[in-house]
Amino acid sequence: MAELRPPIESGAPDPMPYMHPVMVKNYGKWAFHSHPKPGVLYHRAESGDEIWTVKAGTQRQMDHYTIRELADIADQYGDGFVRFTARSNIEYMVADGAKVEPLIKALNDKGYPIGGTANSVSMIAHTQGWLHCDIPGTDASGVVKALMDELYDDFVKCEMPNRVKMSTSCCEINCGGQADIAIIVQHTKPPKINHDLVANVCERPSVVARCPVAAIRPALVNGKPSLEVDEKKCICCGACFPPCPPMQINDPEHSKIAIWVGGKNSNARSKPTFHKLVAAGLPNNAPRWPEVAEVVKKILATYKADGKPWERMIDWIDRIGWPAFFEKTGLPFTKYHIDNWRGGRANLNASAHIRF
Ligand code: SF4
Ligand code: SF4
Repeated sequence: MAELRPPIESGAPDPMPYMHPVMVKNYGKWAFHSHPKPGVLYHRAESGDEIWTVKAGTQRQMDHYTIRELADIADQYGDGFVRFTARSNIEYMVADGAKVEPLIKALNDKGYPIGGTANSVSMIAHTQGWLHCDIPGTDASGVVKALMDELYDDFVKCEMPNRVKMSTSCCEINCGGQADIAIIVQHTKPPKINHDLVANVCERPSVVARCPVAAIRPALVNGKPSLEVDEKKCICCGACFPPCPPMQINDPEHSKIAIWVGGKNSNARSKPTFHKLVAAGLPNNAPRWPEVAEVVKKILATYKADGKPWERMIDWIDRIGWPAFFEKTGLPFTKYHIDNWRGGRANLNASAHIRF
């Protein structure tokens, strides 16, 4: 009889073999933790064991020379154990407090800032479609690098009312979660269709089905099967572009950047929230996106000056109200900015997929 094939395991690998031995030994048995300084966390276990975590920011997209350099620092100054966070920081764990300062110095000497803990601006989470996806409208990793260069001080110091989590997304429909400040591509014109290519490249029923507002229909153009878009219905989401590249939505002038604020996943102190649009139509201006940086810095400075200790961005906005948010930040306010979902029945009934 043939041997039974073992099941194929998939998903996240078992973290235990890669974990610092002090963490493995004391897993789930921690007495308390504290935050001795920006970028450093201290944990004491019930057994009396101690461990320090040092968090360093990276440039996000890393070549293997950089990764080797970071690993060499772990071997030379740490205990040889590191992990990358979801926000592309690297964390070094050491069981000897005397190693913390030399480790920080070694990282700083190589240009890696230490910070991103507690009430700082943590590294920006982002999608990286520019490298591997089929539909990006901007290089979200580049936005991260440009912005974090400007927010360096807010990363290495803990001077915000609470933690600020930011995100960037390179298209407006897919990846990217809720964030205190989210920077998202915004298409402002319907796709331009190359009718010569549609019949050869696109499976037309899939493209028609893809549109959330039923704006696409099959059409004959110059005697060839193609597609047409009802531009009055089109919400410029870009969902038709991935299954049908001849429906080009990216445009050097009309693909913009929008900024949303007040989202969070955390349950601490208040419920999780959706972020809301506060600035639209900013130029997608690579490689440094100065207009985006200006708006983000304005929002952060206002929050820093006006937020009470431990108020997250949305807690601060809920306390002062959205009109005051726009007044204090100086961002122009229009009625289109805020949707509190009271009109959701009408809005969502525009969708071809959701009807109620
Ligand atoms: S945000 Fe959009 S373009 Fe970027 S990786 Fe995700 S699906 Fe691709
Ligand atoms: S999928 Fe989006 S961009 Fe394409 S036609 Fe429909 S609404 Fe417009």
